[in-house]
Amino acid sequence: MRIAVIGGGVVGVCTAYFLADAGHEVAVVERFGNVAQEASFGNLDLMGPSAIQPWAMPGTARRVMRQLFRPESPMAFSAKFEPAMWAWLRRMRAESALSRFLHNQQRLHSLASYSRDMMAELSLSRGLDFQQTQGVLMMFRSTIEAAQASPLIDALSERGVPFELLDRDAARKLEPALSEETPFDSALHLPDDSAGNCPLFVRQLKKLAQEKGVEFRFNSAVDAIRAEPGNVRLRIGADEFSVDAVVVAAGAGSARLLKPLGVHLPTYPVKVYSASVAIQEYELAPQLSLFDERYRVALTRLGQRLRLSGCAELGSSNIKLHQKATTTLVKVGDDWLPNAANYRTATFWCGPTAMLPEGVPLLGATRHGNVFINVGHGAGAWSLAAGSGKLVADLVSGRHPAIDTDGLSLQRYAERVR
Ligand SMILES: Cc1cc2nc3c(=O)[nH]c(=O)nc-3n(C[C@H](O)[C@H](O)[C@H](O)COP(=O)(O)OP(=O)(O)OC[C@H]3O[C@@H](n4cnc5c(N)ncnc54)[C@H](O)[C@@H]3O)c2cc1C
Repeated sequence: MRIAVIGGGVVGVCTAYFLADAGHEVAVVERFGNVAQEASFGNLDLMGPSAIQPWAMPGTARRVMRQLFRPESPMAFSAKFEPAMWAWLRRMRAESALSRFLHNQQRLHSLASYSRDMMAELSLSRGLDFQQTQGVLMMFRSTIEAAQASPLIDALSERGVPFELLDRDAARKLEPALSEETPFDSALHLPDDSAGNCPLFVRQLKKLAQEKGVEFRFNSAVDAIRAEPGNVRLRIGADEFSVDAVVVAAGAGSARLLKPLGVHLPTYPVKVYSASVAIQEYELAPQLSLFDERYRVALTRLGQRLRLSGCAELGSSNIKLHQKATTTLVKVGDDWLPNAANYRTATFWCGPTAMLPEGVPLLGATRHGNVFINVGHGAGAWSLAAGSGKLVADLVSGRHPAIDTDGLSLQRYAERVR
């Protein structure tokens, strides 16, 4: 089949690679001049089935309200409080109930584990090197935060995922770069989780995809999709591009493209932040990646730089930096690794992503037989992209996917309405 993939982020490029691998003639249609220019560019780089969790979890609403008016917070709100934001927050609150959280986390975990295996296979067989580091330390500043992580820890135990709960001394022994000045309660060590440079990976995979015959059509913004039986037409400015099928993997741009086709995604725009800073003192930089559970910010070492990222700003998709977000990133850097870098000299970045309230992506078919989706990865696409790309390629090709895709398609909304 001739297939267009809309979106040159990590999700689109993985999908295109696996579609070409399955023997299709593939074109990636991207509005910018290269791959990984939006959410996949500023990515925090944590990859891991263990640490990946939906945002909606028990205690989320309380935590957001408590931190809302503080200068540092994991979440910032744009000035406009619109009805759509409240509606989305209400849905997210419903998904925070323990039973829903466990359900959503199970789906994410199974997709992320599959994705990790696909990524390992790709890296090994194709010799990819994208500055990977091994091991994540999830930092709990207080006993309350450590206690709130118990559903996650129970789920890890149930699935036999290796982890270790460390007190302060043990955590400092494992990661000597941790500041002596910042008090904390404990840490969760996840040895199997890793980190890596997402945009570098996407550029390398683009090359491999090109070797498999994938065409990249850059500077081509798709204005509309017209789906008819046996044919899909993409309107790109004054031009039209005709294919047998399309996969929409356009990140935050997906909902707008799908709406006229009667495919409604309950996503809400969220802006996410990151900061990159040169390491000043190499012996004071971490070997492990850190994840600050209170501020939901991660710190990763990528070659000669440190990357911090994570703050979410709801209801905004412009590229203006919100001071609360940049203040939070600097605070987290100063708290954990004060001498590794000067965070005030960091280059800050923000980019749009689209979050589903349940935080679990949507893959596969739509009501149109030749329009497929790979969307809604929110804060986790780097951990999920290789697996979801392979699954979508299998579904498009009519092959049986290697893992159960129950709950990963649009069907999950139909089931919950019934
Ligand atoms: C700061 C930050 C930190 C993150 N940290 C992590 C992490 O630690 N671990 C993790 O797993 N995930 C993380 N994520 C999430 C992950 O990076 C994103 O979910 C992922 O990059 C999204 O990939 P994507 O390909 O779906 O979207 P994008 O990378 O946004 O790609 C979508 C592409 O579609 C293109 N497009 C949109 N509309 C059109 C159109 N009409 N025509 C043509 N092209 C179009 C866009 O230009 C864009 O290039 C983070 C995200 C951010 C922003």
